[in-house]
Amino acid sequence: MRIGFGYDAHRLKEGRKCILCGVEVPCEFGPDGHSDADVPVHALMDAMLGALALGDIGIHFPDSDESFYMADSLKLLREVYALVTKRGYTLGNADITIILQSPRLSRYIEQMRIKLSDALETDLGNISVKATTEEKMGFTGDGTGIASTAAVLLITV
Ligand code: MG
Repeated sequence: MRIGFGYDAHRLKEGRKCILCGVEVPCEFGPDGHSDADVPVHALMDAMLGALALGDIGIHFPDSDESFYMADSLKLLREVYALVTKRGYTLGNADITIILQSPRLSRYIEQMRIKLSDALETDLGNISVKATTEEKMGFTGDGTGIASTAAVLLITV
């Protein structure tokens, strides 16, 4: 078994699409970034890479590389997961927390879990997505940004 942890944060910008775990959340602002800036998926990829000591997404998908401009992070996730399976591991489970003041994400959580379980070809029960605010404290609290954490367990097949 291998355990991994990932963290990511992005600035929120007006007019940007708000794509979280592959689901477009209706919102006047979204995470800014080079790719689609899907913050929880970035944290999840870093957790997977971390579990196998394979570096981080900045090494695998540098934002200086134009081919990753507005990249679909779910596609990048599948690429990272291919590295995992190539090494003889499969996902045991993943637990993601999205930290955002608004909008409320509860009604999108199931769709997010389905998107991730489809991308990783794993049971829905292996994917947990949670959302929290930081009670108006700090950069997520004042709406400057969004953050996410992810923990994964990889198991040998
Ligand atoms: Mg990121």
